Amino acid sequence: MKPLGISSDRCLIGGSWVAPQSGKVLDLINPSDGTVLCEIARGAEADIDAAVAAAEDALQGSWGKATAAERGRVLAHIGALVLENKDTLAELEAQDVGKPLKQASADVLALARYMEFYAGAADKLHGQTIPYLDGYTVYTLREPHGVTGHIIPWNYPMQIIGRSVGAALATGNACVLKPAEEACLTALAFAELANRAGLPPGAMNVVPGLGAEAGAALTAHPGVHHVSFTGSVGVGKLIQRAAADNIVPVTLELGGKSPQVVFEDADLEAALPFLVNAGIQNAGQTCSASSRILVQQNRYAEVVEAMANRYAKLRAGPALADLDVGPLVSNRQKDIVEGFLQKGADLEIAAQGQVIGDAPTGGAYVAPTLFAGVTPDHVLAQDEIFGPVQVVIPFADEDDAVAIANGTDFGLVASCWTQDGARQLRMAKRLRAGQVFLNNYGAGGGVELPFGGTGLSGHGREKGFEALYGFTTLKTVAAFHG
Ligand code: NAP
Ligand code: MG
Repeated sequence: MKPLGISSDRCLIGGSWVAPQSGKVLDLINPSDGTVLCEIARGAEADIDAAVAAAEDALQGSWGKATAAERGRVLAHIGALVLENKDTLAELEAQDVGKPLKQASADVLALARYMEFYAGAADKLHGQTIPYLDGYTVYTLREPHGVTGHIIPWNYPMQIIGRSVGAALATGNACVLKPAEEACLTALAFAELANRAGLPPGAMNVVPGLGAEAGAALTAHPGVHHVSFTGSVGVGKLIQRAAADNIVPVTLELGGKSPQVVFEDADLEAALPFLVNAGIQNAGQTCSASSRILVQQNRYAEVVEAMANRYAKLRAGPALADLDVGPLVSNRQKDIVEGFLQKGADLEIAAQGQVIGDAPTGGAYVAPTLFAGVTPDHVLAQDEIFGPVQVVIPFADEDDAVAIANGTDFGLVASCWTQDGARQLRMAKRLRAGQVFLNNYGAGGGVELPFGGTGLSGHGREKGFEALYGFTTLKTVAAFHG
């Protein structure tokens, strides 16, 4: 498969398409119908070694010498090339991940926006001067870590590349990216476009492969100076342990169980699209998906009914049919989600959407499902499902809402619907989350907004200007001049 000039069965290392040293490949499956889309490289330790060496060469060479303004210019050029190729990128992502085309197209625009944002930010990050003892001048320098490792999942490849690689390149790091085995085509395409945009060879390397092979090798590599990971809690723990051996910083974004809290005075008409969309977008395979809807008791029945009406109209089908919901990324993920649906057998299903009749039988389809009357301690109200499944939970008052909202091990995103201004401010303080939304959910996903979690949702922040601090290290210079 060679869209945009990529060689899908190769790694991109040092600016060249190279076959994995083992010669092994993996099948990439189209989750809309279960067919093999193409073969991808099964990169492993030797390929990671080569990629880390290429990244180090780039740092020693022209990339390491590039000024902040020059780095910004390259990122801007990458963003322009992303936009020029937006339809091809969207189709690639739709087929690879199973995303409805409109979602894939939104992801392309987000990738371009990340490049624009970090292009503009590259030369605006600076140190400070610090007033100190007589005879001294003291200042700080923000410097890149060096080689940064990026291990990304399959749910939003382009958005996660944008936010982590964008900030890493803007600050002068050289990147080695291990995309998910289930979805790596746009990662390869991005690196190809970056090279065409003038990014020096080796500043951006991509090694597809299995997590336990290429991913583990990247995490453990002594030549990697920072690791950015988005994915499951279990693998996040492995990454943090491996990074401990090399004493390198990690950014972990591990998903959540994010609530929307609907108070009795909420504007339900405004809230309703957010309540449902935040749960079923990308078939619920979103780290910041809102999988729990908490509703004050006296509006509970009304909210369940209104959500159920919307659910009944939802349709799931192939990515290119561009319906409300696509397939899940894989039949493995479908099995995980169906396992959760079994665990909800004791609950009331308020409504379900439909998988369209002519959806291919090999596709990984799950009908969107809304559960009502769920208790906060139920497994469906506690565990991340990562599928188009939401639970609605009643609450009594503000204290009760806070206790339920904060009553999981996660803390990524939360939202609150109320017209009471004082309550909005109280709730913003009381909700345990890295992002809180008042009378909206997600704020359109703005690339400008720092993002990350607490608890099992992980630590560190990506997106926005804040990410630039995470991808740099601070040096203090104290000059004595008498
Ligand atoms: P995952 O295994 O955590 O995968 C995320 C990334 O980590 C992939 O690139 C994966 O590679 C890699 N990886 C796996 N094992 C590794 C290891 N030992 N060392 C280094 N890297 C490794 O997630 P998943 O299995 O795809 O999904 C399982 C569950 O994770 C989902 O049901 C969902 O709950 C959660 N999840 C969360 C997010 C999020 O955005 N926070 C995203 C995806 C999944 P391979 O895939 O190639 O093995
Ligand atoms: Mg995996």
